[in-house]
Amino acid sequence: MNMSNRSKTVTAIAARPIDGPAPAGNIEIGYGDDVFNTDSIIRYLPKPTAQKLLATINNREPIDAEIAADVAHGMKTWAIERGATHFTHWFLPLTGSTAEKHDSFLEPSGDKAIMTFSGKNLIVGEPDASSFPSGGLRCTFEARGYTAWDPTSPAFIKRHANGATLCIPTVFCSYTGEALDKKTPLLRSIQALSNATKRLMKAFKQADAKVTVTLGAEQEYFLIDKHFYLSRPDLVQTGRTLFGAPPPKHQQLEDHYFGSIRQRILKFMVEVERELWKLGIPAKTRHNEVAPAQFELAPMFEDANLAVDHNMLVMEVLRQVAERNGLVCLLHEKPFAGVNGSGKHNNWSFAYGKTNLLDPGNDPHQNAIFLTVLTAVIKAVDMHSDLLYAAVAGAGNNHRLGANEAPPAIMSVYLGDQLNGIITQLQNGSQVSSSRALPIRIGVDTLPQLPRDATDRNRTSPFAFTGNKFEFRAPGSSQSCAGAMMVLNTIVADVLDEFAGKISKFKAGAFNNELQKLLKSNINAHKRIIFNGDNYSAEWREEAARRGLQAGAGTIEGLRALIKPENVALFEKHCVFTKKELESRFEVFVEEYQRKIRIEGEIALEIAKSMIIPAVTAQYTKTASALQSANSLKTAAGTAALTNLLNELGNGLDGIEKCSAELEEALRMGSCDAIITAMNCVREVADRMEKVVADSEWPLPKYREMLFIY
Ligand code: ADP
Ligand code: MG
Repeated sequence: MNMSNRSKTVTAIAARPIDGPAPAGNIEIGYGDDVFNTDSIIRYLPKPTAQKLLATINNREPIDAEIAADVAHGMKTWAIERGATHFTHWFLPLTGSTAEKHDSFLEPSGDKAIMTFSGKNLIVGEPDASSFPSGGLRCTFEARGYTAWDPTSPAFIKRHANGATLCIPTVFCSYTGEALDKKTPLLRSIQALSNATKRLMKAFKQADAKVTVTLGAEQEYFLIDKHFYLSRPDLVQTGRTLFGAPPPKHQQLEDHYFGSIRQRILKFMVEVERELWKLGIPAKTRHNEVAPAQFELAPMFEDANLAVDHNMLVMEVLRQVAERNGLVCLLHEKPFAGVNGSGKHNNWSFAYGKTNLLDPGNDPHQNAIFLTVLTAVIKAVDMHSDLLYAAVAGAGNNHRLGANEAPPAIMSVYLGDQLNGIITQLQNGSQVSSSRALPIRIGVDTLPQLPRDATDRNRTSPFAFTGNKFEFRAPGSSQSCAGAMMVLNTIVADVLDEFAGKISKFKAGAFNNELQKLLKSNINAHKRIIFNGDNYSAEWREEAARRGLQAGAGTIEGLRALIKPENVALFEKHCVFTKKELESRFEVFVEEYQRKIRIEGEIALEIAKSMIIPAVTAQYTKTASALQSANSLKTAAGTAALTNLLNELGNGLDGIEKCSAELEEALRMGSCDAIITAMNCVREVADRMEKVVADSEWPLPKYREMLFIY
């Protein structure tokens, strides 16, 4: 795409019609219209069936297989009334995306066809899944994977141009019951956290209640015009730009964040929200993000399993609606080098009955529980930061962790000043008092005032307490939340379990003292993970090293945490993974990383050779002939400048040639690190050439165009 094409794109964008404001009046929202939710269950199922299904959904009672036929029938009627002709089991394979295989309801019957959907169709599916990554779990002789209905995530309808499909959320397992997906371990981890929490609450003499793990996933993304996207083979193939010099103006002005949203983008956002609301996804906030052309969508938090599914749908809807609007939604963690990357902040908490356990309470009893849970989270993060890192490791996120405005690869916990003060006093063994200097103890004999309005002004922490929840900011924008949630649930379950064991043995008369001792010793042992300062600073890196906190060491090393014997033991103890499952995951994720790096290397090489070298050569040729003319005219003026330019271009050509040869060799050898080094080398020279070669001749849309013209 040379300038004539690039400028055509710019002209086309400038000429796009912009709709005027919407007419006044109510709009039809249709929230949850395309979800087989409680309302539909009650309306479409016989009463006893509805009751049983709702008990499973709300109280996690085992599903009664007897009701499957009835549920299937009601669901089919509901779906057909809404235009569905097909159904699919919808699941989360290890690729990190979603998978579906559609079957029509249609079944020939004599000369006619009838619409059928049996209980078995609902409960199990057998997708021909031999090509999903399984890390050797499915040997070819048993190359079958089963999908099984997850009734706790409601079925929904997905619409496309001329039809609709009933989607049934499912888990995906091997013939022998091993998890081949991201949902199975997530559900197991929720169970583990639920069990541990119940044990803890029993030790605190609380009546039995349901445990709910909650997640609110803030989704960051970029939008660029589709014309630019299609002219960038790197974006099309890898989701990120492998070349491109940062523009003179980008986020230094910080004028984009929370700025007024442009019309074209707002139109897109409204369409996205309408679709999400129909799917019962509570999209709540929308705003510009830090980088130009970067935006965020945040839903209200929900049950973690549902929120994970919903986030997968959010990503899909963002992509589809962008496409309809002549835009492309980039979900890669680092589409543009040197520019803010995209994350997916995972706001996480868990509740016992109606009580959020990470909410500092009004009464002393709840505060004792709150401080116990808080201490458990701190301990869990300190002990298992390797697993948290493994959960967010990946080729894309690798560029983000530790880069512009992203949390560093060193895990730490931010508590905020007030809470930190309380933790410090707890650790010193002094009477705990709030910043309002009210003496408080964590026991039940006095009335503590814990800060409820602990606002989080620290945006640099990877794991921040934000008033009534923790916000895990390291997950990448393209990643499923399932992995991060699964690790968090499991590591916290493990510590809660340990605490519950100890607390249940406390002597009745000495409960408060013993609890204070338990918390104090644990805070002392794990306070190194608490950091309330600037996580982006060099001082913190040094300080963290002094504290013995390890920075994540790249994707493959990071993933190795999954197969460390102590971690295998942890996951096995809580029935989240077997050793075999962990080994298979390690294999799948490492392969995925290697494949992605290899693709990047190949595309970078092709672009360098077939687009950049020709452009630089053309400029060289023109410059050389200009210099020849100058020389033949025997004029001194201009010859020095032309000579310098010719040298610069010539050196550029030599540089790209040399680095490309290194890249070719690295690709032959198959070493990811060598591929990355050589790609960076090619890029460095190419980006320099971008600023020298005539703008009209540069083959790739530039950062200043992609990020600012839309
Ligand atoms: P901010 O925008 O400052 O990060 P918000 O209060 O807007 O904070 O919350 C961000 C996200 O946290 C939202 O998705 C919100 O629904 C979610 N959230 C709030 N409370 C909880 C909770 N108890 N558990 C999980 N997520 C929560
Ligand atoms: Mg946030």
